Amino acid sequence: MNRLTRYIFIGLALGVICGWIFDEKILFIADPLAEIFLRLLRMAIMPLILTSIISGVLSIGSATGLGRLGLKTFLYYVMSSVLAIVTGQVLVNIFKPGVGAKLGLEKVPEELEAIQQGIFDIVLQIIPENPFAALARGDVLPVIFFSILFGYFITQLQTTKRDQLTQLFDGAFEAMMKLTQFVLWSAPFGVFGINARIVAETGFGAFKSLGFYFVIVLIGLFIHVSINLPLLLRFVAKVNPLKHYKGMTTPLITAFSTCSSMVTLPLTMAAVTRRSKVSSKIANFTLPIGATVNMDGTALYECIAAIFIAQVYGFDLTFLQQLLVVITALLASIGAAGVPMAGLVMMSVILRAIGLPLEAVGLILAVDRILDMFRTATNVLSDSCGAVVIARLEGESLEGMGEDEEE
Ligand code: ASP
Repeated sequence: MNRLTRYIFIGLALGVICGWIFDEKILFIADPLAEIFLRLLRMAIMPLILTSIISGVLSIGSATGLGRLGLKTFLYYVMSSVLAIVTGQVLVNIFKPGVGAKLGLEKVPEELEAIQQGIFDIVLQIIPENPFAALARGDVLPVIFFSILFGYFITQLQTTKRDQLTQLFDGAFEAMMKLTQFVLWSAPFGVFGINARIVAETGFGAFKSLGFYFVIVLIGLFIHVSINLPLLLRFVAKVNPLKHYKGMTTPLITAFSTCSSMVTLPLTMAAVTRRSKVSSKIANFTLPIGATVNMDGTALYECIAAIFIAQVYGFDLTFLQQLLVVITALLASIGAAGVPMAGLVMMSVILRAIGLPLEAVGLILAVDRILDMFRTATNVLSDSCGAVVIARLEGESLEGMGEDEEE
């Protein structure tokens, strides 16, 4: 367990204990700590989206000549993520972990603005009249839309200009990832403040209800890795899923411990090429993109968490509203960086898109770090399955899959 994780656990435990012992007297310190953390998170949202989407699109687009590969990769990523999201959506609608949950919410919104409108209005609003205004207002979907188009047209420029801009956006994205890492150091205090506040105001009932939500996310992830992904391997790639899974232990344990698809990437590449026998041409192209844009675990979690929060606030989402959650969960998982707790940052994106208050992030924070371990492992596993599927679609035999390579 790394230092930050340890501190976050300590923050969580201390928050619970202090909230319990000192009751509302702890609020004078818990409130500011929680607020500072939430503001830091909000501060990171828009620049992170802009830079991660543009550099993501560029890393896909700059691989010219691999257009076909790009399309297959993209289709696999969308398909596996949508499968994950729908699994989550079905579970959260069947079990409704948020209905009747008492998590001490005061500010209940009057209505969910964004989703009171018709589908045409929603689609129309995705196109920003002024992308800078959208950025300043924090309108997520228009910024994502603009970033995708802008990234795409950078790839259409002549080489020098394209390379310069690619460097610029890659650099900006890296800087934002570093900034996000820095913000994460405030997480132990934020976690302390938010949990102390929840316990002081509502007692342990909060954790009972969160426990239900927690279990639903875990069940969803389990179904995805034990049913959805094996089905893709079996019927699209036509390989034995167990043989592939067998070779993935090291990257999976690493993903679980580090909570970062990015950090795990070198090990994922090694395992996919050496144990599952995917060529490095395919692995080198698909895995780095996968670590940035393909996050099934995160997508599933975003969907469950958003609907859970809506349930806590007492909103029964209509089909259209749920569709908006599915689309934003997909976009948010694409936009999320492969770093610890990126999914939580992106959670604010969905909440903003469907018009729920950002404070709601605090509701799910208590169990987020542990969920991050499971969802990161799911993300990495899906990336590796993607490489196998695409290699097979490109005609590779993958003979000897699952066997150890001689050292
Ligand atoms: N930690 C995850 C990853 O690196 C992203 C997330 O927070 O969901 O894949």
